[in-house]
Amino acid sequence: MNSRDPTRLSQLRAEPVADQNIYVTRPHLPPLEELLPYLQSIWERRILTNAGPFHQELEQRLCEYLGVEHISLFNNGTIALITALQALHIEGEVITTPYSFVATSNALLWNGMTPVFADIDPVTMNIDPAAIEAAITERTSAIMPVHCYGNVCDVDAIEAIAQKHKLKVIYDAAHAFGVRDERGSILNYGDVSVLSFHATKVFNTFEGGAIVSHTPEMKLLIDNLKNFGFLSETSVVEAGINGKMSEINAAIGLLQLKHLAPALEERRAVARYYNERLPQIGGISVTAGNLSPAANHSYYPILVEDDFKLSRDALYEHLKTCKIFSRRYFYPLISDLKKFVDIPSSTPENLPQAHEIARKVLCLPIYPGLGEQGAQRVVEAIASASST
Ligand SMILES: *Cc1c(COP(=O)(O)O)cnc(C)c1O
Repeated sequence: MNSRDPTRLSQLRAEPVADQNIYVTRPHLPPLEELLPYLQSIWERRILTNAGPFHQELEQRLCEYLGVEHISLFNNGTIALITALQALHIEGEVITTPYSFVATSNALLWNGMTPVFADIDPVTMNIDPAAIEAAITERTSAIMPVHCYGNVCDVDAIEAIAQKHKLKVIYDAAHAFGVRDERGSILNYGDVSVLSFHATKVFNTFEGGAIVSHTPEMKLLIDNLKNFGFLSETSVVEAGINGKMSEINAAIGLLQLKHLAPALEERRAVARYYNERLPQIGGISVTAGNLSPAANHSYYPILVEDDFKLSRDALYEHLKTCKIFSRRYFYPLISDLKKFVDIPSSTPENLPQAHEIARKVLCLPIYPGLGEQGAQRVVEAIASASST
C-alpha cells in the first residue's frame, strides 16, 4: 500500500494542508508569468473578442485534444446548453435526468420546454434507457442525458431509442471533458454535446463552455446563434444570443491545455489513493465510475450506506468539523427544486433510484494539488467517524 511508484501522490506537487480547509475542489491555474505574453498579444492586436486569433486557436487545439470534428466556444456551459436546444429546434417535452446540476433543466425551462424526468441507473447514476422509453409521448422532441461525473451514458441504447422515435439527443457533457471509450471521444455521440469550462471543472477557462457538433452546417448555425444570429454584416437570420468567449478566456484555455496532463495525473493519483483505502471502511461504497480506467476523475462520489455508523448528513457535518467540505452532489434532485417539483414526472414514485442515490451520495475532495496529505486527512476523518 505504501509502494514507491514515481507517479504516486507523495512525488507529485504536494500542498501543505495539515490544518487548512479542504474544499471539494480547487480550480487549476497555469503559471501566471506564462499568461503575460498572451496578454501582450491581445493588447497589441486589440482584438478582444468576436472569434479572435486565440479563440480560433483554442477551437482547433480542443478539436485535436478531444478528438472531435467541430467545436464552438461559448462564454459558459449554460448558454451553450440553451443555444444547443435552439440550434436543434427543440420544442415540447424533453426527457432528462433529475440527477444533475440544475443548469441542465434550467436550460429547458428558459427555452419554454418541459422537462420530463426519467429515473437513473443506480450503478452509472445516468439516465436509464428503459425509463426514457417509458416517458415518451407524442410531445417528446428530444432526450437530454448527462454523463454524470464523467461516467459514459448507455449511448447505444439511447441512440436506438432516438432513432426509433425520431428524437434529437443533446448530451450535457459538462463533467465529461476528455472522456473516451473504445470508439474515441464520447463527445461524438448524439446530435451535439455541451461542455462547461467553469472554474470548478476539469478543464477551465475561468468561465466558458462549448458545443461539439458533427457537421459544418451545424457548426455554422451554432456560431451564428451565439453571435446574435448574424450571418453577415447586414443579415441576421436567427433570434440569436451573445454567447461568445473572449480572447482572455481563450488565452487562458490555451495555457490550461498545455498544463493539463500533470493536473489530470494528480487527480488520478488522488482517486487511486481513495480507491485503495475507502472500501476498507465498512458502510462506505466506492461508486463504479471511480474505478473505471476511462474516468477523468472530475468528481469522487461515494455512497454512505445504511450500515455506516453515521447518516450521510451526519458524516457531511462531521467532515466539516475536520475542516473538510464535501458536497452532496446531487442532492436535492432537480425534480425536488421549487421550479420543477410540480411537474408530473417529479414524483418520488417515478424516480426511486435517483432518490436512493441522492440520499446516500457524498462527493469527496478531489483536485490537482490535494496531495497525499490531503487525501489521507479525508480518509482518516471518515474512518474516525466510523469508529467513534
Ligand atoms: C457546470 C455544469 C453546467 C453549467 O455550466 P456553466 O459553465 O457553469 O454554465 C451544466 N450542467 C452540468 C451537469 C454542470 O455540472
